[in-house]
Amino acid sequence: MKKVLVLEDEASIRGFIVINLRRAGYDVIEAESGEQAMELLKENPDARVALLDIMLPGIDGFEVCRRIRATNSRIGIIMLTARSQEMDKVTGLMTGADDYVTKPFSPAELTARVDALVRRSGGEDPLPQATGELSQPPFLLNTRNRTLEKNGQRIKLTQVEYSIMRVFMENPGKALSREEILDMVWGRDYFGELKIVDVNIRRLRLKIEDNVQNPAYITTVWGYGYKWGL
Ligand code: CA
Repeated sequence: MKKVLVLEDEASIRGFIVINLRRAGYDVIEAESGEQAMELLKENPDARVALLDIMLPGIDGFEVCRRIRATNSRIGIIMLTARSQEMDKVTGLMTGADDYVTKPFSPAELTARVDALVRRSGGEDPLPQATGELSQPPFLLNTRNRTLEKNGQRIKLTQVEYSIMRVFMENPGKALSREEILDMVWGRDYFGELKIVDVNIRRLRLKIEDNVQNPAYITTVWGYGYKWGL
C-alpha cells in the first residue's frame, strides 16, 4: 500500500488528515514532532510522501524538510501552512518541498495533492515517456535515470525540478507561460497555484545558474513566463 507520513503536532488536525488519507486508501504513519518524523522515515524508507506542519514544538517543519532532502530527493514533500504564513510558502519550497497546502483545506484538496506527488514519486510523470540523453553543454539530462549533470558534475534535483529541466531542455529558446509549465510538469488535473512554478524555478536557478542574480539559462519572460536561454 502507498505509504504517507503525516507530521502535525495538533492532534485534532492530525486526526482529520489521517482519517481522510486512510479513506483515500493510504497507509498512514503519524508523527507529532519533527524528531519523531525523522525516526519514522528511517524505519519506513518506502514512504512516498511526507506532509509537514511548520510550527512544531521541537525542530520546525522547514528543518525537517531540509534534513529529509539532505538524503532523499525522491520523496514528495508537502508543507502544511497557515493562511497568515505567506512567506513560509516560499521558504518551505526553497528548503526542498514540492508543494504546500494552506489550512484550512478540504479533504478533496488534500488527497488530490497527495495523489499527484505519490504518482510522481512512483516514477509516473505527466510528461510522455522518454529514453535517452539530452545534451546541451554544459548540461546533460539523462531521461532514463532522471539525472542532470553540469560540466560532468551531478546536480541533485527533486522530481519536480527534474521535470521542469526536461520541459526546458525539450523546448530550447521557446517562451513558456507559467500555465504551460504547470500543466506539463504538474499535470492538467492538478489544482494548485501558479506561484509554485515561480518558487520551484527560483530554487532550480540556485542549483544550475552560474550567477543567480543574472540568470543565463532560465531567463524570465516578463509578464509571461520563462525561457530556456541556451
Ligand atoms: Ca503546529
